[in-house]
Amino acid sequence: MNVAVMATTLVVLALVLYWLSLRSRKRTGIPSGEIFYQDLVGQPFFGEPLRSRRLGILGKPDCLIRTAGGVVPVEFKRSRRPPANGEVYANHMIQNLAYCALVEDQLGADVPYSLVIYAGEQVRKVEFTPARRQWLLDTIVDVEQARVRKGADRNHSHRGRCTGCGVRSQCNQSLL
Ligand code: SF4
Repeated sequence: MNVAVMATTLVVLALVLYWLSLRSRKRTGIPSGEIFYQDLVGQPFFGEPLRSRRLGILGKPDCLIRTAGGVVPVEFKRSRRPPANGEVYANHMIQNLAYCALVEDQLGADVPYSLVIYAGEQVRKVEFTPARRQWLLDTIVDVEQARVRKGADRNHSHRGRCTGCGVRSQCNQSLL
């Protein structure tokens, strides 16, 4: 095979792969756009948190996609049992809303919504609505108040939630 044929073959192959990736994203609900932030070892921005001085929060979304409608934060969850009816668990919802606010504040970008992708590639959309913005603000106030009084009451009775909880070692209300 001469060089010209090889080059043509590679270009065609790249176009086919690109088309397949677009088709796959469309089917799963992941928007097309540039993935410019990934919290994965070896990727740009690995380990770099986003911060909001206005809200007093910081966090690291798994991934950010720059789309025509704004920046979309994406969070991957290992849970193999997502909630029914296309919903999102409340703790995942508030986490994603925080990422939406962080992207707005630090990057100055529009954030139309975020995505939670449960294991098994079940993509769930979290709209960044005015009511949810208010819920996020109220939750931040609640967390701050709990921090000041050095305690918070558990609001669930699911042992599974405590299993994967990142603050279990400091929690005096763990179910495990
Ligand atoms: S370990 Fe504590 S903070 Fe974590 S989910 Fe259980 S009760 Fe909540």
